[in-house]
Amino acid sequence: MEFTISSDKSQQILDISDSVKRLVAASGVEDGVCNVFVPHATAAITINENADPNVCLDILDALDALVPSGRWRHDRIDNNASAHIKASIIGPSESIPIKGGSLQLGTWQDIFLCDFDGPRERRVIVTIIKKV
Ligand code: ZN
Repeated sequence: MEFTISSDKSQQILDISDSVKRLVAASGVEDGVCNVFVPHATAAITINENADPNVCLDILDALDALVPSGRWRHDRIDNNASAHIKASIIGPSESIPIKGGSLQLGTWQDIFLCDFDGPRERRVIVTIIKKV
């Protein structure tokens, strides 16, 4: 299963929890694992706080401080090396346990797609595995 989501900024962290939860509900799986994967080299998946939107902005600021743009070899190709490096730091997927038909996210956790080279449309692949 998969869905698409569009960013509208050069760097943006988007909450995709509702879309993932809909697919989990549609699967009918009560106990298992849900893997959320982004098939892009300049985007990533993370799980973090859903209450204060500044957390997502702080993550972007921290990654900007850690990985300044414009000083990498790959910038000579398409000027987005920092986006590739940030995507590798965060990683392309997360796996969340499913119990009683629900994702076992904590109260303050949601699932986010990080787009480091937007704006553009991104694919998100969701694989739901039933516990045997
Ligand atoms: Zn590139």
